[in-house]
Amino acid sequence: MITYEDFLIRVAEVRAKIAEACRVAGRDPAEVALLAVTKTHPAVAAEYAARCGLAAVGENRVQEAVEKRPLVSASAPGLRWELIGHLQSNKAKLAVQTFDRVQSVDSEKLLNHLDRAAGESGKTLGVLLQINAGNDPAKFGAEPGDASKLLEVALAKTHLRIEGLMTIAPLGANPAEGAELAVRTFGNLRTIRDELAGRFGVPLRELSMGMSGDLAAAVAAGSTVVRVGTALFGGRS
Ligand SMILES: *Cc1c(COP(=O)(O)O)cnc(C)c1O
Repeated sequence: MITYEDFLIRVAEVRAKIAEACRVAGRDPAEVALLAVTKTHPAVAAEYAARCGLAAVGENRVQEAVEKRPLVSASAPGLRWELIGHLQSNKAKLAVQTFDRVQSVDSEKLLNHLDRAAGESGKTLGVLLQINAGNDPAKFGAEPGDASKLLEVALAKTHLRIEGLMTIAPLGANPAEGAELAVRTFGNLRTIRDELAGRFGVPLRELSMGMSGDLAAAVAAGSTVVRVGTALFGGRS
C-alpha cells in the first residue's frame, strides 16, 4: 500500500488530468466527480480517500465492501460507498444494506430485487443503469437496444432513484484501438442518455464513464463520474 503522501500526489495528478480535459471540452471541473476505486486494496485506501476530501469510493464486490466498510466507519463517517461491479439478484439485499448507490444495474430482475430490498430497509436507493455501450461480449450491462425498456421499468420503482447511466469501454487489442473504442463507447452512452432523457422527460444527470486509462476521453464526452483505481492507488495484485 502506498503512503498517504504518495496518494496525495496521485490525487493531484488525476485532478490535473480531469481539469485539462475539462478545459479542452469547455466544461467546469466541478461537474466531474472523482470516485476512488478501492477494490483489492486494504480498508485504509478508503480512509485516504475520505481524508483528502473525496466524497465516495467504489468497490466491485459486495462481500469485500461488507468487510471493509465497518473498519473505516468511525474514521470516515461521511464517506459514501458505491457498487461498480456486477451484482447477482440474490445479493441485492446485502448490497442495499452496504452501499449508498449501485452503478451496475443491468436487468429487470435486479431492479425488482433492489426495489424490494430498499423498501424493506426503508430507504430510497440511488442507482445507475449499466449499459454495454461498447457492445462488448465480455462486458456486463444491458444492451443499448434494451435500455429504453429497462429505464421504463426502473422509473416505475418507488424505492429506487434513477440518477443516470454507467458504462465500461471494451479493452482494445492495442492502445490505439483501445483509445478509439473508448471514444466510440463514451459517445454512444452520451447519445443514449440524451435520447432517453428526452423521451422519458427525466434528467439522467449522471454519466459514469472513464477509468485510469481513458478518463480524458470520457470527460470530453460528458462524463460526470470518473472511476479511478490504478492511477490513485497503484496496480492491483
Ligand atoms: C476496477 C474498476 C475501475 C477502475 O479501473 P482502473 O483502471 O484501476 O482505474 C473502474 N470501473 C470499474 C467498473 C472497475 O471494476
